[in-house]
Amino acid sequence: MNPITIAIDGYSSCGKSTLAKALAAKLGYSYVDTGAMYRAVTLYALRHGIVKDGAFIEEDIVKSLDHISLSFRFNAATGTSETYLNGENVEKEIRQMEVSNLVSPVSKIREVRVRMVALQREMGKNKAVVMDGRDIGTNVFPDAELKIFMTADPDIRTQRRLDELQSKGSVVSRDDVRRNLMERDYEDTHRKENPLIQAKDAVVLDNSELSREEQLEFVMRLVKELAASQS
Ligand code: C5P
Repeated sequence: MNPITIAIDGYSSCGKSTLAKALAAKLGYSYVDTGAMYRAVTLYALRHGIVKDGAFIEEDIVKSLDHISLSFRFNAATGTSETYLNGENVEKEIRQMEVSNLVSPVSKIREVRVRMVALQREMGKNKAVVMDGRDIGTNVFPDAELKIFMTADPDIRTQRRLDELQSKGSVVSRDDVRRNLMERDYEDTHRKENPLIQAKDAVVLDNSELSREEQLEFVMRLVKELAASQS
């Protein structure tokens, strides 16, 4: 089969990246976590005092973009690709609540999106890529051959994110995690620039009751159908 682009969009903490990583490994494709890019910009702003008491001036964030270099490197030991900000591995820091609480307002800024989308298009220009985010199938790669739109029950999503944060040693409450997910979903679906919406040609995957293996099987079936239709 010719290499294709697989776009996975959906709500926060639906397991997009877990599925995307498994798919990329199965197909021998690269994986791009676009949320990690917006998170890294947010982390930079926090570290440099551009964000103070949860507030920031858009122009200062835009100026900081010229000082930010983002990349992903594959870690053979963990079997996943990790996020680097100006050469530093920030994979852990970008997942903290402090970043989660600010990332949606930061990713609303037009110039931030323009810069990130350009990088994402460059990373995926040779196809053979699984990219997850909020606007991949609608904006970054509207011609992606396969688009998945993921959703899941909010209580299940909260539990998954809570488990993930706690397994990494974070002390967080269920209420805070739930509030953060709901607020991000609201902001991501209501913003002006590239909001989260289901692409017309996306296949919906509600994984509330599905195991990781079942989700992978579901998408691999779609990939095989696509391959058969190409030949
Ligand atoms: O995927 P993740 O939950 O890590 O994304 C963090 C945030 O980054 C999202 O809530 C959203 O505000 C932003 N994002 C975005 N566009 C993308 C990916 C993520 O605006 N393509």
